[in-house]
Amino acid sequence: MLRVQDLHKRYGATEVLKGVDFTVDRGEVKALLGPSGSGKSTILRLMALLEAPDAGEIILDGKRLGVSVSGGRVSHLRERDLARQRTDIGMVFQRFNLFNHLDALHNVMLGLTQVRKVSRSEARDRAHAMLTRVGLAQRAGHFPSELSGGQQQRVAIARALVMDPKVMLFDEPTSALDPELVGEVLAVMEQLAGEGMTMVVVTHEVRFARRVADEVALFDSGQIVEQAAPDEFFDRPQHERTRRFLEHVH
Ligand code: ADP
Ligand code: MG
Repeated sequence: MLRVQDLHKRYGATEVLKGVDFTVDRGEVKALLGPSGSGKSTILRLMALLEAPDAGEIILDGKRLGVSVSGGRVSHLRERDLARQRTDIGMVFQRFNLFNHLDALHNVMLGLTQVRKVSRSEARDRAHAMLTRVGLAQRAGHFPSELSGGQQQRVAIARALVMDPKVMLFDEPTSALDPELVGEVLAVMEQLAGEGMTMVVVTHEVRFARRVADEVALFDSGQIVEQAAPDEFFDRPQHERTRRFLEHVH
């Protein structure tokens, strides 16, 4: 479903991604672990088309993203076409990034009415259905300031889901939450995985990764060090770097 090939990115003198390759099959959940500053958020931002790579390709459902190719010539897409491609990729951030002046329902509706040009009444129905799916039907009229962090994050998940994305990217979705609110967000993500959503999850939640992920990867210094099925990864890591990392998170 999603393939990243030889992805490179630098900021000034800092080479943040040093040639990243990975694949996520349809319906598969991939967990990315790694130390702070290793480039995990950067790779998600590139996959979400929020930034362009310096080199490499992102291929979603057989289609190369961010560029148009005609007659062998590659050119970068204009903003309007990028916006359309972005709707295939749902992204959930560590900070919920909701619009504070809109209630939960209108936060979820916005992408449908603005980007997809869906009618207001249909957008309202679909947004309601999505809030119900994340357990927030009763909170549709609440503003972000009236919701807990866990509820805000579930609204953010509903907002991404309502666009009917082909893949969902999560960037440490529970790291900013009080510990007692982490479970409700992980439960929604686990439900989503069970329904067959293709997902890439950057997380420090080792137990979640072990239970829900089909494959776990360790990211360090802009490269994937090791990737394997959860039992292999956690119980029989092949690389010294992975063993050292796991000592700190277990
Ligand atoms: P992680 O999510 O694994 O903590 P990031 O992808 O956020 O790592 O960052 C990787 C490296 O890239 C860090 O050294 C960070 O300082 C740098 N970096 C990230 N975004 C930018 C940016 N917009 N400008 C300059 N440096 C950046
Ligand atoms: Mg990050």
